[in-house]
Amino acid sequence: MSKRGKRRTKKKSYQKRNRTVLVLLALVLILIYIIIQKREDESYASMTSASIGDIIDVIERGQADVSRYIVYGTHFNIEGSLDITNPEIDDVQVVAKKSSGEEITVDTTYEYERGEISFSTLDKINTGLDLETLDRDNYYILLKVTSSNGQMNYYSLSNDTEYTDPINYYTLTRNNSNNKINISFLTQNSVSALVLSVEKVSKLPDDVYDVVIDPGHGGNDTGAISGRYQEDEIVLENGLELKKKLEHLGLKVLITRDGTETDEYDTYNIYDEDGRVTMANESGAKILISLHMNSNESDFVDGGVEVYAAPNMDLSLAKSFADNIVEEADTTYSEMKTDKEEDGVYVRTIEIQNRNSATFRGYKGIYDSIPYLFIIREIGGISTGAYVNGSNSSYGENIYRNSNVGVEGYLIELGYMNVNTDLRNVLNNGDSYMQAITDSINSYYKIK
Ligand SMILES: [Zn+2]
Repeated sequence: MSKRGKRRTKKKSYQKRNRTVLVLLALVLILIYIIIQKREDESYASMTSASIGDIIDVIERGQADVSRYIVYGTHFNIEGSLDITNPEIDDVQVVAKKSSGEEITVDTTYEYERGEISFSTLDKINTGLDLETLDRDNYYILLKVTSSNGQMNYYSLSNDTEYTDPINYYTLTRNNSNNKINISFLTQNSVSALVLSVEKVSKLPDDVYDVVIDPGHGGNDTGAISGRYQEDEIVLENGLELKKKLEHLGLKVLITRDGTETDEYDTYNIYDEDGRVTMANESGAKILISLHMNSNESDFVDGGVEVYAAPNMDLSLAKSFADNIVEEADTTYSEMKTDKEEDGVYVRTIEIQNRNSATFRGYKGIYDSIPYLFIIREIGGISTGAYVNGSNSSYGENIYRNSNVGVEGYLIELGYMNVNTDLRNVLNNGDSYMQAITDSINSYYKIK
């Protein structure tokens, strides 16, 4: 071997060693990266500065099981149970406790039977813990049991549901500002806790909205027709106006159709990727307003407004819509009696009832046609009993039917197409109807 050759060999082995060192270094770096990632996953709590250690002293007594945790609209609710031997119970409450000790009490109903307390904050699906009012802090959701001798014991909550992913909730936009609330179960040294971590975000993620507007019908579905007027066109024009008004309040608004939809668009693709139900479910919005015009073959009514909401709801926002529309748009409450709860407010349980209920079993329509109130039911997930499961392939499948996060939906029949005063009022005065809806949202959610 020549000198040259020798040198080359030496150089080669030097390069080889160099490469080995580089490979080892890379492996070490990858390993470190994996460890850091794993740590971050495990200790989301410490990232958001929530830690079970903060409340360990109050939860030593034991844990309650959560069988349901739900976000519907702007409210959070839970249901669950606690095994307890001491039956001397004076009160049971769900509380949201800050690490500072400050407590928010959530209205709770409970029963004690054979060594078990079952509790629920879900009396109404849109009341409970108001996520919009929480300060930026960490809140531990605890069960507080007060004995008849006045002693108070706190129990932390463990997850006994099929839902394991954290919920990320974004508050409504107010003054260009939003909070993000991470709702998750943390486990540390076999103690589990349900924690809400509230932090400020600079803006909503691109795919998260405050409000969804759903102008009814569209495509080859005209809705009701009166002379040369079509329901789908009237509600679209008003929907676009409502969008402008809500955006003027600073809200981020998604509209389910904007008039560019083709003839392909109809009632058979609402669960498709760009269908109205899918869009609403994916929107991250807190509230949906669906706009319609009514019609009735028999001319029994003098027209007027009807606002529809889901069952088991506090109806004060629905009532506010009806009242404001009547007043600001100079119209009337509908005379329709069926499903009426209050003047202008309706809850049509037969089409929205939970699939397991006796009421639902008497209802056959869902597999023959799509009930017009499906939108309220199908965007609420388990809170409203969404159930379009694909068993009728022509209507598709609502893949969000089992979601524990739901959009609070209202369907507003502005007036009757076949009642002349109503039709003319909506055509000439649509702006006042939309202003009334905007005013209700503004005051109910304290936007401005
Ligand atoms: Zn309609």
